[in-house]
Amino acid sequence: MTEPGRYEGGCHCGNLRYEFRTSRASRDWPVRRCTCSYCVRLGAHYTSGADTSLEVTVADSSALARYGFATRTAEFFRCRKCGVMIFAGCELAGRRYAVLNVNTLDRTSELEFNVVDMDFDGEQVGNRLERRQRNWIPDVNIRFIDA
Ligand SMILES: [Zn+2]
Repeated sequence: MTEPGRYEGGCHCGNLRYEFRTSRASRDWPVRRCTCSYCVRLGAHYTSGADTSLEVTVADSSALARYGFATRTAEFFRCRKCGVMIFAGCELAGRRYAVLNVNTLDRTSELEFNVVDMDFDGEQVGNRLERRQRNWIPDVNIRFIDA
């Protein structure tokens, strides 16, 4: 089992690795199934929290892809080699916020999640940004080890 409070994960080929820190056990994380057209296609489930942090390590920065659509207030970070999307990020007032795709954690079979559906279609952009600032991971670092 991962050390309490520190959870590792990454894309499938290992180009993107991360450490997610939280004070809560996985069954107490908010885990949301986003019902937007992109996340439904991927089957992505997200967690975040004001008391969490995410440190991403990128081995080959040329293989880090970002994808934005619709309001383009968020971008999805994906590995170009294996195609796995690990998190969605958003910049607000000069700070990067994120939600983590929990399906990319190592040893997910040992973790228990309570998943709820979230439908954000039709939400006003202002409300959306305010919600992210409140609920998303506020401490996000991306390290490029080939830079
Ligand atoms: Zn990969």
